[in-house]
Amino acid sequence: MQTNFSLKQLADPQFAHSESILRNCVHCGFCTATCPTYVELGDELDSPRGRIYLIKEMLESGKAPSAGVVKHVDRCLSCLSCMTTCPASVNYMHLVDHGRAYIEQNYQRPLADRMIRKLLEIVLPNKTLFRASLIMARLARPFAGLFKAIGPLKPLGAMLELAPSKSAPTTPTCKPGTFSPDGPRKGRVALLTGCAQPVLNPGINEATVRLLNRLGIEVVVPAGVGCCGALTHHMGKEADSHARAAANVAAWSAELEGEGLDAIIINTSGCGTTVKDYGHMLAHDEAHAEKAKRISELTQDITEYLSGLDLANAKAGEPLRVAYHSACSLQHGQRVLTEPKALLKGCGFEVVDPPEGHLCCGSAGTYNIMQSDIATRLRSRKVLNIESTQPDLIAAGNIGCMTQIASGTGIPVVHTVELLDWATGGPKPEALTK
Ligand code: SF4
Ligand code: SF4
Repeated sequence: MQTNFSLKQLADPQFAHSESILRNCVHCGFCTATCPTYVELGDELDSPRGRIYLIKEMLESGKAPSAGVVKHVDRCLSCLSCMTTCPASVNYMHLVDHGRAYIEQNYQRPLADRMIRKLLEIVLPNKTLFRASLIMARLARPFAGLFKAIGPLKPLGAMLELAPSKSAPTTPTCKPGTFSPDGPRKGRVALLTGCAQPVLNPGINEATVRLLNRLGIEVVVPAGVGCCGALTHHMGKEADSHARAAANVAAWSAELEGEGLDAIIINTSGCGTTVKDYGHMLAHDEAHAEKAKRISELTQDITEYLSGLDLANAKAGEPLRVAYHSACSLQHGQRVLTEPKALLKGCGFEVVDPPEGHLCCGSAGTYNIMQSDIATRLRSRKVLNIESTQPDLIAAGNIGCMTQIASGTGIPVVHTVELLDWATGGPKPEALTK
């Protein structure tokens, strides 16, 4: 694709990177067929190719984007299905990240939109505030329909509908600490426990630590590590997301230089995609660039790490049929495709792939709050596809997908690691005991 940036623009490394991405695109349109928003809405401007044009023109103009351009960029899920399909290796992820940051800096959103985004930015990455907000959300849930009827307040209604009906307890992994195996130590890893996950389902981190300890791996949850920054990164709030990334890089690097780490383990794939990109995000931050690159290289999804360990004695507690939902961040963002299914099969579970597995469930960070109509359509499509395989349960590796899918089906939804923990001597996942 031809570009038309000024020399002044190209002196900015972010613009230079976007220009090189744009030049790779050959307009072939293969990506449109696998883009969930294009498949649902049928509008070229809601396809990757359409958005690439819009972002190119917006960046080249150097001016504030129109409300129309912002609408189509906002409708992108950042599912990265287009990157899997693209034959020219166009790095749409970095391009749309730049586009979002540009919009944030150059576009004045309507007041209600700004306030809701601010609320999400403050509440979601803070476990205490998030926990308190869920209690309030339960009380306000009867008014969800009212909020949804008032256009600009629709996201608040969606938020109330998504809130779980009861609070989850706090557990040992909610705080920093070191969790050692009973026997000899065979390895040492840091676990990112996340911000929303421990509030919504702390059992996932507990299962992860139990499983790793059982396999002889010491797990450290270092002080100073917080939200990975993905939530604000996808809202274009670059300063916030980069500050969170830098803080995490510093905390993990201290641990790496201290007792040492074999890996940084992530069991929420949305976070994993962002942490694996820290090297790029902080490439121009002199104080953190090198360490960020090292941290990204050390980062693995829990299933990638487990694939290198011996789970030979694992055996499924019951012969269950598992529909494996491959989170977009895992299959498209990190290209982790076979490991989760191989681990589950190795334990004796029957694993089935639902049709249209490449299409997003509509969760996508805060997408199911900010774009609830499209998210609900995608959830219905996902649930129909999963239910067509007649599974006993659904397994996924991302709390966002788990929450989204569970809100649309009666089939239990568990994290992959909860099944692996159960198969190696841990308790039956709570969702299967109800
Ligand atoms: S990231 Fe997903 S929603 Fe966005 S353009 Fe690519 S395929 Fe479409
Ligand atoms: S598939 Fe790749 S090269 Fe083709 S239009 Fe989409 S982004 Fe461009």
